[in-house]
Amino acid sequence: MTEKVAADIYLDNNATGAVARECLEAMLACLRPGVGNPSSRHAAGMRAKGLLQEARGEVAALLGARPPEIVFTSCGTEANHMAILGALARDPQRTHIVTSTVEHPSTLMLLRHLEETGIRVSRVPVDTEGRLDPDAVRAALAPDTALVTLMWANNETGVLFPIARIAEATRAAGVPFHVDAVQAAGRVPIDLTQVPVELLSLSGHKLHAPPGAGVLFVRKGFRIAPLLWGHQERRMRGGIENLPAIVGLGSACALAREDLETQARRVCGLRDDLERGIMACFPAARIHGAGAPRLPNTSNVGFATLDGEQIMDALDRHGVAVSLGAACALGGSEPSHVLTAMGLERRSALASIRFSLGRYNTQACVERVLTLLPGILGEVAARAA
Ligand code: PLP
Repeated sequence: MTEKVAADIYLDNNATGAVARECLEAMLACLRPGVGNPSSRHAAGMRAKGLLQEARGEVAALLGARPPEIVFTSCGTEANHMAILGALARDPQRTHIVTSTVEHPSTLMLLRHLEETGIRVSRVPVDTEGRLDPDAVRAALAPDTALVTLMWANNETGVLFPIARIAEATRAAGVPFHVDAVQAAGRVPIDLTQVPVELLSLSGHKLHAPPGAGVLFVRKGFRIAPLLWGHQERRMRGGIENLPAIVGLGSACALAREDLETQARRVCGLRDDLERGIMACFPAARIHGAGAPRLPNTSNVGFATLDGEQIMDALDRHGVAVSLGAACALGGSEPSHVLTAMGLERRSALASIRFSLGRYNTQACVERVLTLLPGILGEVAARAA
């Protein structure tokens, strides 16, 4: 196997982000002796509990939630599963779930499994820009709907769903609403005092915290059964808390809240420059979801009929990390289910690259990619000819 150049231009922040220095320092402090199990009564335990509660407060502040509404999990996938399985367990008569065609595999794969056990799933389609119509979600509700589960921002295209409008509809119908905000949290403002969802997931490693900590927000007064039983997390999630990762997550939420709008504006400027540059050097390119409201950091670009995998590998050889749609789809030759749901044909979907920017990218990163791209696209085109 040929040695790869370490990526010095990392444009795959929707897969995961570098751990922020602030998070690392906070985590190291709680890995030193003197910090115990947060469930212990002695001083070391109380110190751990204090750190846990501090982190809970930071997550709550980022979301406009109350600290007791924050349940720590191991990752976004666990939070999504806890929401879906917990909502289904509330009432055995309610066996119907509403979702979309473009959810993350952590949701889609669980729902596919649940269908085999007799649960009915309605998948509301998106349009060619990846937009979801709130009226179509409302129309999919049935008397036995246990839950509506939808993402706030799509991980492949960055397209944002109109969560506030959908939440009004679900509230009016008395149906619980779970939002997968794994890609949205820390990138666009979220204020749960204004958006009446019952459940919301996020994941630390998308926010420059390390992997190992996620969150399920559970609105006060809304009860769901845990996935893991135990006394921790107010009996909502058993098992010892991953304190270092949770402290990292708390610190990442504080960092995100500090400069959310400034970062969003800066990163969006870089993303727009990248898209303009790509269109200038390859006019046949198409930005998927460009007609919809999008995350400021994500650009999913179709390079006509060129092979996306070859473009990605060539960028990688030059030290630029990007992704082919979802990271989880890496290595597979199947086209992205998100792009297919937006009406793209197999060949166009396979010609697509996801650039996802973040806090540590600069104008120089964008310029370097734009310098490399014409040569790479020319080589890939020549190989196809
Ligand atoms: N939901 C979305 C939208 C995601 O993008 C991801 C990860 O890529 C997840 C859920 C799963 O999160 P985790 O990797 O923390 O399990």
